[in-house]
Amino acid sequence: MKKLLVATRNRGKVAELLSLLDDLPFELLTLDDFENVTDVEETGSTFIENAKLKSLEYAKQTNCLTLADDSGLEVEALDGAPGVYSARYSGENASDKDNIDKLLRELNAKKDQSRLARFVCAMSISDPSQNLFYGEGYCPGKIALSPIGSGGFGYDPVFVPAGYQRTFGELSAKTKKKVSHRSIALKKIIRFLSEIASY
Ligand code: IMP
Repeated sequence: MKKLLVATRNRGKVAELLSLLDDLPFELLTLDDFENVTDVEETGSTFIENAKLKSLEYAKQTNCLTLADDSGLEVEALDGAPGVYSARYSGENASDKDNIDKLLRELNAKKDQSRLARFVCAMSISDPSQNLFYGEGYCPGKIALSPIGSGGFGYDPVFVPAGYQRTFGELSAKTKKKVSHRSIALKKIIRFLSEIASY
C-alpha cells in the first residue's frame, strides 16, 4: 500500500484528517512517524500558499507523498481576520482559549456588526519534487456570543455552521465531518488521491 504523510502537528486536525482519509487505500503516516523533521514556517499570505509550502517542504524532508492543510477562520466584521493568522491570533504559542477570548473581545467591540464568518481550508498534495494538486473548501456560519461545547478544537466552541443552531463544539464529530471546510476541500482533491493510490 502507498504511504501518505498527513503533515500537521495540530492534534485536532490530525484526528479529523485521519478520519476523513480512512476509506482511501493509503498507509497513513503522521509527522510523529519521522525523526528530525524541521517545522515548516507558514510565510505565505494566503491559505493556498501556505498549504503548498508545507506539503512540498515536508515531502522533501521525508521523501514521502504528503498532504498538508492550512486553514483558519475569516470573520466578516473583522475584515477577514484572523485569517491565515488564526493559530497565532493572540500571539505566538497562544492557546485556543486565548484566541477565542481575543476574537470575542474584538467582535463585541463592534456591537452593531454582523457575526458572519467562515472557516477556510486549503489542502495540498506534493511528492518530494513538486506540488501535485490542491483544493480549497469553505464552511459558512456565524460566531456565537460565548463559547459553548467541548468538542473539536480551535474556534469550534464559538462557530455555528450555517443551517445549525449549535456550535461545532456541541455538534457531533459526524456532523462536522459532513459540513466542514476540511471535508469540502478533501472532496475537491479526492479523485486525484484515489488515482495516485491506484498506480
Ligand atoms: P494552521 O495550522 O495554520 O492551519 O492553523 C489553523 C488554525 O485555524 C487552528 O489552530 C485553529 O485555530 C483554526 N482552525 C482551522 N480549522 C479549524 C476547525 O476545523 N475548527 C476550529 N478551528 C480551526
